[in-house]
Amino acid sequence: MREYPLEVDIAIQAAIEASALCEKIRMDLSHGESLLKSDRSPVTIADFGSQAIICKLLRERFPNDTIMAEEDSKELRRPDHSKILEQVAMYVNAFIPASSPNEVCSWIDLSANAVTDRFWALDPIDGTKGFLRGDQYAIALALIEDGSVKLGILACPNLYVDIEHPFGQKGCLFVALKGMGSVQMDRHGGNQRTISVSGVKNPSEATITESVEADHANHLMHQRLAERLNISKPSVRMDSQAKYGILARGEVTLYLRVPSPAEPGYKENIWDHAAGSIIAEEAGGKVTDVLGRPLDFSSGIKMVKNDGILASNGILHDTILKALAM
Ligand code: AMP
Ligand code: MG
Repeated sequence: MREYPLEVDIAIQAAIEASALCEKIRMDLSHGESLLKSDRSPVTIADFGSQAIICKLLRERFPNDTIMAEEDSKELRRPDHSKILEQVAMYVNAFIPASSPNEVCSWIDLSANAVTDRFWALDPIDGTKGFLRGDQYAIALALIEDGSVKLGILACPNLYVDIEHPFGQKGCLFVALKGMGSVQMDRHGGNQRTISVSGVKNPSEATITESVEADHANHLMHQRLAERLNISKPSVRMDSQAKYGILARGEVTLYLRVPSPAEPGYKENIWDHAAGSIIAEEAGGKVTDVLGRPLDFSSGIKMVKNDGILASNGILHDTILKALAM
């Protein structure tokens, strides 16, 4: 990975540290302290800690870059949440010694939530519900220049390294650089290997991956599509952008995210797809919305020009788009 060498190194370092923090918290707290945000989605002390570590490192090394990240410290600064803030600071201290609660909040708030010519999109924990359940989650970081994703990193601390050994070694890092392919590493950044999507040509042999959460996509529609295409393998339900990782390494063929009828006008967030989509594409896959439009990373936090997501091994993309339109 010769291009963007500093960006690649720093982003990998940030993702490794953030995933170590998240795993430490997951091991220490059986259910994790969580706050409910205004949209009622849970946010844990690990979300805050991960964002603090990554934003601090990015700002130090790339002072001119904008960061667009999911969390802010508003809730954390409330006097009745002081115990939670103390816990966040305690965990961050293991990585950044002597950091005060106030500093931790200021690092979380380095996020500007604005699209600029060059910015980092960060989901400090994608799949918080999976994290709280002890299932999959990801730390997702992407560098976007002029609306195009140049670099994507996904840390999946709880994902098996090899499907042949689902109960074996866990913790994967996926890294993709525009035009340079995708790789998988272990959770320490070692054992790098190039990954590529599956070569499945016959739709009936495809495997679908989709969200665990029933409200995040139209699972009934996914099932109908599977029936229409004679797909017999059960779908792999998985939280977070780990879905893009298993697509990129050829374990599944399709990632379907048809908008849920529970929230018809829902627009996807940039940080939920920027890193994952480049990892799938650089591994030979294709990623569009469910109407075949390219993903738009230039309009703001919300991908207002897109509806849902279809990621595939590329070969089957048009077939699936046609079947979705039926
Ligand atoms: P997943 O684990 O793939 O279901 O994705 C988790 C992400 O789903 C979270 O980061 C949320 O931003 C996003 N999300 C929340 N509500 C919805 C919804 N109604 N439709 C699609 N995605 C959603
Ligand atoms: Mg997310």
